[in-house]
Amino acid sequence: MSEFDVIIIGGGIAGASLGAEIAARWRTLIIEAEEYCGYHSTGRSAAFYLESYGGPEVAKLTLASRDFLSNPRENFSGDGFLRVRGDVHLTRGRLPDIPSSVETRVVERRELEKLVPGIKPEWKRALLEPGCADIDVASLHAAYLRAFRRAGGVVRTGVRLQRATREGGEWTVQLADGSTIRAPLLANAAGAWADGVAAASSVQPLGIAPKRRTMVQLRVGRSGLRDLPLVDDSEGSFYFKGEGDSTIWLSPHDEIPTDPCDAAPEEIDIATAIHRFEQVVDWPIDRVERSWAGLRSFAPDRLPVYGFDTGVPGFFWCAGQGGFGIQTSPAAAKMAAGLLLGEEPDPMVAYIDPDVFSPRRFSK
Ligand SMILES: Cc1cc2nc3c(=O)[nH]c(=O)nc-3n(C[C@H](O)[C@H](O)[C@H](O)COP(=O)(O)OP(=O)(O)OC[C@H]3O[C@@H](n4cnc5c(N)ncnc54)[C@H](O)[C@@H]3O)c2cc1C
Repeated sequence: MSEFDVIIIGGGIAGASLGAEIAARWRTLIIEAEEYCGYHSTGRSAAFYLESYGGPEVAKLTLASRDFLSNPRENFSGDGFLRVRGDVHLTRGRLPDIPSSVETRVVERRELEKLVPGIKPEWKRALLEPGCADIDVASLHAAYLRAFRRAGGVVRTGVRLQRATREGGEWTVQLADGSTIRAPLLANAAGAWADGVAAASSVQPLGIAPKRRTMVQLRVGRSGLRDLPLVDDSEGSFYFKGEGDSTIWLSPHDEIPTDPCDAAPEEIDIATAIHRFEQVVDWPIDRVERSWAGLRSFAPDRLPVYGFDTGVPGFFWCAGQGGFGIQTSPAAAKMAAGLLLGEEPDPMVAYIDPDVFSPRRFSK
């Protein structure tokens, strides 16, 4: 008999949250190729919760996650993970289209000057999304891993799936050190490597494409920025938010196709970010304190993929979380766990149609 019922590939937020939802009932192993879980996308996010992001279907997962993120059950975490700051969607022309389920209101120039002091005159109006919040990503990810282990789950780091073969209703996973592990189910939560893990398991890849995004921490000659709203534009060319009293996190909203890798920022993207930032506010720039990049991985229709593969039994997809994998993780993990275990959906996601996220949509 196999030692485990499920092997989850990847210990980022997707693997950790799915694992935490199933470990009490099924013997579950997470394998993570890096020395610690969260090294890739999960540890590099911009850490915000934005209900309007990703379109109406993603918004359902985000909205369903909100209560869990702000008031988690006590045995999961003593503290909530959200800190509300609001988001100002700037525009030079048309206001952005935002799903009607998301609370917003129009802000005219005078109020805009108060919300974003030093804003340049060409920005005349904006849409304010008051519910936007910071997410404490490290604490959320740690809480999921803690819940997973407490429920009996096992995490092995520094362990990479090389190949997986299926025979007699069971997967044999071959690791980089030559050893093997067996389980009837394989869950692919490998982030940017999701298609590679599929191919290594003789499963047809779905076209999950990693795209690099750059983040810059800037020190500027202005103080009182910590509680500044997130500021972005309706054309999707930048965003920034206050980090410390005189520091901000800034992104040029880049989306550079790349192979799965340990992503690093390029000088040109940092320069682009700064140039765009200079078009928004008159704050003098002191210096770049640090910069980093991470991969956001998208399915061809930019919706995440949750469900069993249609061609190969026992292979479960939990991939394509794009730029919303943290904010959707509570609801997505509940939905994915229900699908994996073949159970009724949890009340948190009972009204969300899982077919929208099924890999079946690619075989039609
Ligand atoms: C710059 C940036 C900003 C972002 N901002 C936000 C935000 O504000 N809000 C939000 O909700 N989301 C945001 N995201 C998106 C979010 O970070 C991702 O959607 C999420 O982290 C994806 O989680 P994951 O577990 O799928 O991937 P990862 O965290 O990358 O985890 C996948 C893991 O699988 C492991 N793995 C791969 N192949 C193998 C193998 N063969 N064997 C074993 N292990 C393997 C990898 O080592 C990796 O650790 C942002 C992302 C980036 C890059």
